Amino acid sequence: MSAKILDGKWVREQILNDLRPRIEKMAAGKRPPGLAVILVGDDPASEIYVRGKVKACGDLGIYSEKITPPASISTEELLGIIEGLNQRNEIDGILVQMPLPKHVDSRRVLVSVKPDKDVDGFHPMNVGSLVANIPAPRACTPAGIMELLRRYAIPVSGKKAVILGRSDIVGKPMALLLLHESATVTICHSKTSNLAEECRRADILVAAIGKPSLITADFIKPGATVIDVGQNRGADGKGLVGDVDADAAKQLAGAYTPVPGGVGPLTIAMLMANTVQAAEHHLCSASD
Ligand code: NAP
Repeated sequence: MSAKILDGKWVREQILNDLRPRIEKMAAGKRPPGLAVILVGDDPASEIYVRGKVKACGDLGIYSEKITPPASISTEELLGIIEGLNQRNEIDGILVQMPLPKHVDSRRVLVSVKPDKDVDGFHPMNVGSLVANIPAPRACTPAGIMELLRRYAIPVSGKKAVILGRSDIVGKPMALLLLHESATVTICHSKTSNLAEECRRADILVAAIGKPSLITADFIKPGATVIDVGQNRGADGKGLVGDVDADAAKQLAGAYTPVPGGVGPLTIAMLMANTVQAAEHHLCSASD
């Protein structure tokens, strides 16, 4: 059997195409959506991520602003920048690129972003909305995976989903989103016993552990949908390798996301979607 490839670039284009007319309508009316991206210091990987986000804004006609304080910035100074952005009407979304330098209190920074401008979906209020299934910005990577499942018409309701990884940015929100779509959800982590056995029960297996090719044939139920979130450096230090052994996924899965080209392209697309949604909300509230 050869698994169907779930093409994240195709899904990204669909998501962005749906956003374009909404952005044009706002730009032709009061103003385009606006996103502020804060990049503290000069971590090369973070610089690449931020460049991708700013470019996506430019391509779509979203106003963006990149703010680049030095790595020596204090927590208080960073909170001051965020407070300024919270007050500005033309800024709909604020993204603080993680990780922050160790001396900065990331938790205080996260909660300082106004929840309706938290386009990453990390603010505790938005996490609470996710738990309660109330509309609010959702974490971009898991939300992108839900879009991918929806646009490929992969059934979720009544299916057994196993999530590998319990991080706040991928594993936990992924589990909740699948639960709200009526999957029966299991979350696995580094202390889970019989990991392969748990995974082999999954109709939908989402791997988000950051361990190159750890998920081998033993973990995959034949015909399952395998979503590989992992983005790990290849053994040669170059290229990207997923958490799932690609040959095993190809042979056993019914469908799978390749690395690169699967989940990766979805994250920025959902950041754009969250920004557009926040702008619509702000513009609508302003005209009330
Ligand atoms: P993280 O915060 O490091 O969390 C990793 C999770 O995996 C933890 O819950 C950990 O368990 C679990 N884990 C680690 N080793 C394990 C093992 N051997 N068996 C079972 N569980 C194990 O990672 P993350 O931020 O969620 O990211 C996960 C991966 O997704 C990384 O490769 C990252 O680069 C990638 N990622 C990709 C995108 C994208 O846009 N495509 C976005 C975000 C992340 P414990 O909790 O017990 O420690």
